[in-house]
Parts: sequence; C-alpha cells; structure tokens
Amino acid sequence: MSDNNILKILRNEVSYFENILRRRDYFYDINQLHTYSDYNRQISPRLIKDYWAKFIQYAKNKNNPCDIDFYIHIPFCQSKCVYCSYPSQTARDRREIDRYVDYLIENMCFFSDTFSQIKFRNLYVGGGTPSILNSKQLDKVLTNLFRYFSFCGDSQKTAECNPGSTRNSRLSLLKHFGFNRVSFGVQTLNAKVLKIHKRDYQDYASIKKAIGLVKENGFRDISVDLIAGLAGDSPNGFTKSFSEIAKLRPYNIVVYGLMPPNDGYLRKYFKMSRADYFQKHYPSMISRALKIMRVLSRKFGYVADSFDPARFHWGFRHKEHLDSSFSQDYSGEYAGCTFGLGTFSRSYIHGMLEYRQVKQPRHFEFDSKIYEGRILRKKEAMIKFIINHLALESKVPQKIFEAVFGTSIFVAFPYAIYALKRLGKIKIFDDYICFYFDKPEEKYIYALFFYR
Ligand code: SF4
Repeated sequence: MSDNNILKILRNEVSYFENILRRRDYFYDINQLHTYSDYNRQISPRLIKDYWAKFIQYAKNKNNPCDIDFYIHIPFCQSKCVYCSYPSQTARDRREIDRYVDYLIENMCFFSDTFSQIKFRNLYVGGGTPSILNSKQLDKVLTNLFRYFSFCGDSQKTAECNPGSTRNSRLSLLKHFGFNRVSFGVQTLNAKVLKIHKRDYQDYASIKKAIGLVKENGFRDISVDLIAGLAGDSPNGFTKSFSEIAKLRPYNIVVYGLMPPNDGYLRKYFKMSRADYFQKHYPSMISRALKIMRVLSRKFGYVADSFDPARFHWGFRHKEHLDSSFSQDYSGEYAGCTFGLGTFSRSYIHGMLEYRQVKQPRHFEFDSKIYEGRILRKKEAMIKFIINHLALESKVPQKIFEAVFGTSIFVAFPYAIYALKRLGKIKIFDDYICFYFDKPEEKYIYALFFYR
C-alpha cells in the first residue's frame, strides 16, 4: 500500500475517534477518558478492604515497593463557586460537618488493620474546603488519622485552604501534625469576576493575610492556584491577578485553564457550545494567557514547568526554591496508587481496581454498596499510565513504563506507536516518547489509538 493511502486510512481513523468523542458528554475531561468503559460495579467497603489486602500481600510476596498515597476529601464549602466542578456542597450547619467527621473516623477505624504494616507515601487533604473544619473537628480528624495510619518520615503532607477560612488555630494544628505544604485556591483577584462566581467573600486583603499567617506558622511550601479565562475576566484582569499573587512570593503558582462546569455555564456567559469553546475559544484564550505568563514569570522570578499549549495547567516555581524537594498537586487516582477516604473520593489500586465513593450514608456500614468501581485488566492499567502522563506533561517515560509493566510500550501498543509516528504526533527518545499536539483536544482524540 502506498504511503498516501496509509496516511489516508490513519486520518480517517482520527476522524472516527473525533466523532466518537464528540458524542460523549465528557469529552475534554481527561479523567473521564479513563472511564471510556464505565464504572460498572457497585462495591461495599468490605470488598474494597479485601482488594487492598490482596494488593499489599502481593507487593510483599514480590518484594515490590508499596507506594500508596492517602487522600481525604472534605466535601463542604462556604458557598458553591459558579465555575466549580469539584464534588462539594455548601455546608448547611456545623452538625452536618460533625456527622461527616464521625463518619470519616468510622471509615478510618474500619480500614486501619488493612494498612497496619505499611507507611503511606504522601498525604493530601482536599475538597471542597478542608479549612472549613473548625479546630475541634480538624483536631479530631487528624488525631484519629495518625492514630490509625502511619506515614513515611519524608512524606509530603498537604492541606488545601480557602483564604476566607484560614485561621491561626487551624494552621498551628496542621503544623503540629507534621503538615509541610499549604495549597490555596485563589483563582482570580478580579472583583467583578469573583462576584459573578459567588466568591466575593474573598479579596486581596484576605489572601495577603492568609498567606502571611501560613508563613508565620512556619510553612515554606505554599502553592496558589489561579484560573485563566473565567467568565468576565480579561487579559488585563489575569495580568493583575498573576502579578499581585507573584508579589506575595508563594513557592508555586499554578494556573489552570477554565474547565466549564456544564453547558449552561457556557451558554450563559460565553454564548457558545462546548465544542466551540474547546475548539476555538480555549486555544486562543490560552495562547494569550501563556504570553502573559511568559512575561510575568520572568519579571517576578518564577520558572515555568512548561508552556505547552496542549496542557490544562502550568506550574511556576520561584527561582529561590528550585532546589527544594519536588512538590505536586493531588491529581486523583490517576497519578498512582491512592487510598481515598470520604464521600466523592477516588481510589486506585494499581493494576487491580479503580473506584470512587458515590454515596454518603449517615452511618458507616460494612456491606452497603457505597462505591462504584471497575476491575482493571493489565492493558487498561497501561493505558491509564499513558494517559496520566499525557495529561500532565505530553510525554510518556518509556523506561518507567517498562519497569512498572514488565514489557515495553512498543510491544504492548505496536499499532498506536506506528500510527502516531506516521501522523507526526510523536518522537521517540531514549527515555521518553514525546507527543506534539497543538491544542488539548488532540490529546483525547489521538489517545484513542491506545484503545484499539
Ligand atoms: S471553594 Fe473550591 S471546591 Fe469549594 S466551590 Fe469554590 S472552587 Fe469549588
């Protein structure tokens, strides 16, 4: 077959993938691409426990490292921000949070013996808004957490905080329990944009005060999240938000491109469909934001991890802290083996099972079907690995792939590698396969070659 014919067939295949994805609601959500085949089982805590026990025993028999991260989800916020697609709800009253704290502790108690022989790698308390817990509730959660579970001495322990609910008492508790990193969701400093998104309880003074308090409590690793492209924002507004935050000198600034929470948001504020947003609006908005980020990061002494336009977020670290140990945001079960605790948490048992808690019962019961999950075959675990890396950095570490799965990516996916090479989307280097995409949606389309 001639070269031209081969290319024609491959391009037809790309169009076919594009059509499949456009028919799916969750096109453009990289996390959901993993669930290309849906979560198909309802699972009880008892069964989850059996899977973890099996995984730990297997690692022990094989002498494999047992690297597991611990994630706790606090699903409450002061109010629900309009742009937010995270699983969280407005807290009705203190008693509701009290009940949730008790529920978490029942969970900890139930799972503790499964993990009694291992030390967890990292800890991430996210949400929602963990800092919505008052000191008594936070103390209760952390006292029980460290009573039931152990962590490596050098583990990274992160708590997400909202500037509006950051208090001295909670920060000193976090410090007392060994937390070494605080992550703030600030998103924007544009007052008009904050108001549109029902987040106007936050202003620059409260953020400055919160970051000051965190520093006074001895935390050095502070990360601030911003969003580029929020409804009502402008390049000038984004420039101001980035500059003002950079002047406060957090270790890291992480900028996310706006992921619209639903089609209604797009219709109301952007007057466009999801396809138009991602195909036309998003790439040009991100291209402008990246130009701003290039200039400002240089001006304020930050070093970017990448300016790749096909990513959904870009990290900037202050040059004074380039040597400090690597810190990362929580990226769900897709970044490795994660034990998630609490409503809406997601977990991943490497090569065996992925699951999420979808229901919040009033009381913990061993056999209630509160999780949805699916058993992973080896091939699916491999695809998950590839997509994780594609989502994060547009390159796949082939040596690590081989170490994890005992086979090379070229043997496991000969057709995908061939097709992507012929289409000029990858280049192969010694350690990495690098992908070249002009815009994020291409990641989703071309990733489907690995599902063939
Ligand atoms: S505070 Fe954070 S998690 Fe809560 S609604 Fe706002 S963006 Fe979402």
